[in-house]
Amino acid sequence: MPQAPIRYRVAMPEPQSHDLHVTLEIPALPERRALDLVFPVWAPGSYLVRDFSRHVYDLEAVAGSRHLPLERLDKARWRLQTGGRAATVRYRVFAFEASVRTSFLDDSHAFWNGTSLFFLVDGEADRPCRLDVEPPSGWRISTALPSRRGQPSSFRAENYDELVDSPVEIGVHELHAFRAGGTRFEVALQGPSNVDRKRMLATLRAIVQTTRAMFGGFPFQRYLFIIHALPTRGGGLEHANSCTLDIAGNSFEDEKSYQSFAELAAHEFFHAWNVKRIHDRALGPFDYGKENYTRLLWFHEGFTEYMQGLVLLRAGLITTERYLKDLAENWTRYRARPGRSVTSLSDLSYEAWIKQYKPAENHVNRMVSYYDKGRWAGLVLDLLLRSATAGRRGLPDLFARLWHAHAAKGNAIDATAIRREAESIAGRSLSSYFRRFIEGTAELPVPELLPGAGVKVEAKAPGDVSDAVKAKRLLPWSGLVYATNGDGEKAVVKNVVPVSPAWRAGITFGDEIIAVDGTRVTGATVGKRLADHAPGQSAEVAFFRKDRLRTATVRLARNPERKWSFAVDPDARARVIALRRRWLGTKD
Ligand SMILES: [Zn+2]
Repeated sequence: MPQAPIRYRVAMPEPQSHDLHVTLEIPALPERRALDLVFPVWAPGSYLVRDFSRHVYDLEAVAGSRHLPLERLDKARWRLQTGGRAATVRYRVFAFEASVRTSFLDDSHAFWNGTSLFFLVDGEADRPCRLDVEPPSGWRISTALPSRRGQPSSFRAENYDELVDSPVEIGVHELHAFRAGGTRFEVALQGPSNVDRKRMLATLRAIVQTTRAMFGGFPFQRYLFIIHALPTRGGGLEHANSCTLDIAGNSFEDEKSYQSFAELAAHEFFHAWNVKRIHDRALGPFDYGKENYTRLLWFHEGFTEYMQGLVLLRAGLITTERYLKDLAENWTRYRARPGRSVTSLSDLSYEAWIKQYKPAENHVNRMVSYYDKGRWAGLVLDLLLRSATAGRRGLPDLFARLWHAHAAKGNAIDATAIRREAESIAGRSLSSYFRRFIEGTAELPVPELLPGAGVKVEAKAPGDVSDAVKAKRLLPWSGLVYATNGDGEKAVVKNVVPVSPAWRAGITFGDEIIAVDGTRVTGATVGKRLADHAPGQSAEVAFFRKDRLRTATVRLARNPERKWSFAVDPDARARVIALRRRWLGTKD
């Protein structure tokens, strides 16, 4: 006999209150006298404790007409004495944060990501759920959950995980659809946008088809893109059968804007496999009540970041030239970050909960995002696999193997599975890759490996420009990075590179530089006045530290930074060109 479902009903009778009214009907569970109701503290896919219960109000429980005792045990857990009988729980959630992770309601639309709205009945996570939505008249509902036969506002979820992994968009949004590989794709576009609808759909179609080719099919029959067109870009969140993309609605003014939309969509779509299906044991089934520690975010996020670029290239959405140019710009930025080689990717993943979204002044010097560094680790592993297989096999094959041999059979993966599958593709040990670049902090050998894949690498030193005056002024370096304050005027120190001239002179975060050699400077001119000195010369820097006026002598050094450029090498040997074509999947 099928289990009686837990029923969730969501109403929004007063959109101006931003309150979503939730009713939870728990069936009679005679063997359980008391139930714990747990409100999630985090949203899977975003590794930070967010304490969504802070938006819960007016919580009460009844059995028939009788109130049931509810005891609060901690910030997110309540104990409900049901005596084994059916119970109805009612509460409201203040829904006024427009993000992919939260809930929102106003008179234009409603959206929720389930972990910010639904209580989990502890111990009953596997029980089927039913969701009934009561929207204002004229509003439509879009979600990846299947609707119940003939009831467009009533949905089924296999369990709590599926319920909260299926965000819901309600309103008067545009609804578009296309088919690819026998799968129906729906696009719910909410909010004003100057995006070319045809181009947006063609972009999404190219992305899903290219990704499908890597995995040999889709793992779902229906997939939903929820796109919020907002005043500013917000980011994305992946789900098993849908994703939410918060984009800047009216930003579609050049090619770059379509590229950045495509990057976000390709990233979240790739997650339908990597992290939603291929994942660490810690990442599903989830513990919604606390941090879920994993050492694999370099793989789940960083490698997804790498694959998104490859998908765009193979989908024909960007050129090889553009791809390599972006890669070089990112590498230049990455190499200028002092903290890139301080913490291992494994530790960066583990510490995500306390560091990734909680920036501190020293992070630039002590750490780097696992998205950013993980992307380079992905490129390096791809190039190692290509070089071991004459270009025939690479990272897409690793993902296909992890999907077919592990995830599709319902098995979680770990670092050993990733290494073993990679080694079986390479036909040799890759233990030094994992020891040095994942567990260790060695510099990723990107410029060293690219030439073997037919890419010409150049590292220009500052001053390598034809304008002789400019060239001279690009040489001196202080190690200071400025943050201009609100009015863009003050030269406030955002970072000091460790062991740089400014570091040795004792200048630190938050110092406000007001003069160089007795001449007043602003955020716009401080760099220019310092550049009046040649490397080896000293500058007198006056600055406020809090309210105290201070001075320091900064002896300028020669700028150690490099500007990297990557380009197709037309003179590469035929064998190398063949490898490059197989790696990039293009004719270049
Ligand atoms: Zn991601």
